[in-house]
Amino acid sequence: MSTHFPDEVFQEFTVLSIPTLTNFRGINHREVALFRGSEGWSEFAPFLEYEVAEAAHWLKASVRAAYKPWPKLYRESIEVNAIIPNIDAARVPELLAKFRGCTTVKIKVNAFEDGAALVEAVLQVIPDAKIRLDVNGGWSLRDAIEYLYEYHSRFGDIFEYIEQPCKDLFDLRQLKRETPFKIAADESIRKGLDNSFSELSEFADIAMLKWAPVGGFEVAHEIISSAGLPVVVSSALDTGIGIAHGAALAASFPKMDFACGLGTIALLESDICEPALLPENGAIAVERREPSERLMAKYAASEERRNWWKNRVTDIWNANRGEEWL
Ligand SMILES: [Mg+2]
Repeated sequence: MSTHFPDEVFQEFTVLSIPTLTNFRGINHREVALFRGSEGWSEFAPFLEYEVAEAAHWLKASVRAAYKPWPKLYRESIEVNAIIPNIDAARVPELLAKFRGCTTVKIKVNAFEDGAALVEAVLQVIPDAKIRLDVNGGWSLRDAIEYLYEYHSRFGDIFEYIEQPCKDLFDLRQLKRETPFKIAADESIRKGLDNSFSELSEFADIAMLKWAPVGGFEVAHEIISSAGLPVVVSSALDTGIGIAHGAALAASFPKMDFACGLGTIALLESDICEPALLPENGAIAVERREPSERLMAKYAASEERRNWWKNRVTDIWNANRGEEWL
């Protein structure tokens, strides 16, 4: 393609800083970079602490989405789940109200009692909710067995699956043998992209995929062909630009049996698109989005931050021979 990369992506390179509504992963502002390629807008937004090697997957995904057409799509809208971060249970109704029509709810949990309070708060608002717990690998095998037993005794069969209960693959395999809960792998996939996924079904029942962290559409499809597991597409506090690519990824699988984690705009003070890509009737539409000039001006980051992101792109591009991505 062009010989002017990565300069070409800098022509409309915009860095934004959008306040988050809850303390999600310890941040209260989400910084993202947006740029436009021949196919449309794309988003590059690895979290600030990620090193070049990990952030390279994100850049590959975002550059390809800007300069290559989307894959074949099988549906025009994607059912999404609500997400409740680890917040005070009293805030649950106000946050759930933003996920209009969602009946599947993912709850971020640590210790049993705090998590159980959030589950109760969700069930008060949506009595027949399907609940997913996301542990982010935070439990030991012993914690997992004990807590899951307690969740089951208190709430019964309301749990659709448990996302990454333990970090260690051997713990996951043991847990899968010992409990009736379905297990979804998230960090095991996006933090282990050099591994083969052909044995993933021994550790998990469902594969979570995020468009940017895994490196885009092609890699996501390779992982699923190799793992042979049902997929749930999720996101990483993206703006509507990145979420749109996630929705395209979800639409590119012929079979999609689960609500996807693509309603996360609700955790930001604002989207960058107008109207915001928030769930309506529990779903979002699959279409390329453009950022709003007004919102880009409102949430523009400083010149210093813009330069930081440009340097980040240049470093990753040079370390990975980015032109081979196109
Ligand atoms: Mg997760």
